[in-house]
Amino acid sequence: MPELPEITVIAKQMNKELKGKRIATIEEKQPKHLNMPIRKFIQTAKGKTVETVSSKGKWIFIKLQPAHYMLINLGMGAEILYYQSNQKTPENAQFKLAFTDKTGFTIHFWWFGYIHLIAQKDLAKHKFTPQLGISPTDKNFTSEHFKNLLAQKKTTIKTFLLDQKNLAGIGNVYVQDILFKAKLHPNRKIQTLTEKETEALYRAIQNVLNASIKLGGAAFELDFYGKKGKFTADNFLVGYKTGKPCPQCGTAVQKIRTGSTASYICPKCQPER
Ligand SMILES: [Zn+2]
Repeated sequence: MPELPEITVIAKQMNKELKGKRIATIEEKQPKHLNMPIRKFIQTAKGKTVETVSSKGKWIFIKLQPAHYMLINLGMGAEILYYQSNQKTPENAQFKLAFTDKTGFTIHFWWFGYIHLIAQKDLAKHKFTPQLGISPTDKNFTSEHFKNLLAQKKTTIKTFLLDQKNLAGIGNVYVQDILFKAKLHPNRKIQTLTEKETEALYRAIQNVLNASIKLGGAAFELDFYGKKGKFTADNFLVGYKTGKPCPQCGTAVQKIRTGSTASYICPKCQPER
């Protein structure tokens, strides 16, 4: 499942390739991805020009001129791939968008996903994106901001980090090493965190996510050009490393159950208390 690093990388590549292009045609085999009937979707999108592409959490925001957004969420996973005018497009793609210069992109969803079209003035009324918390890579995400977010919260730290309303973009992949770097057990209650631990967690969030962005995202996901990211299993510290030695102390990494998700921890570096 793509998380913040993968979506950040794809959105940057989309921005580079699509800026200034005008939408010519759209084909969609699975209208359930859309937030309106397919005919209306095509009518609304056709002729509009891409102004910018950005991302927030796991959502891609394509800003269109005049005054619309195309919002894309890749769900449990998908390939969103750029194509040139002379290139064959993947047959399993459910969505295909072509620009007037004959380039475009296709999307093949593995399970579910969304492609929503919304007028700029209605963006605050969108079903999903207005509830998203701040992106941890946003320049406004300061340690002060993080402390304020944590205040009054009564859940465990892992539950907090995975809730997209608090911070947008962290999922069960990167959360493992974030907690390990901060030396926190996933079940630690937020109220028990010391000032020092909060600061360590703040830095760990940024370190882990930015390290993967620099490498182009996870190796099990494809970017906009169909290339795999360079963040491989070797780059994980404890994530998905059951039985392997902790890079800090050598203790065997354990896979434990935390609520509805699996967690990978070093029992010595991340004591439950
Ligand atoms: Zn350890």
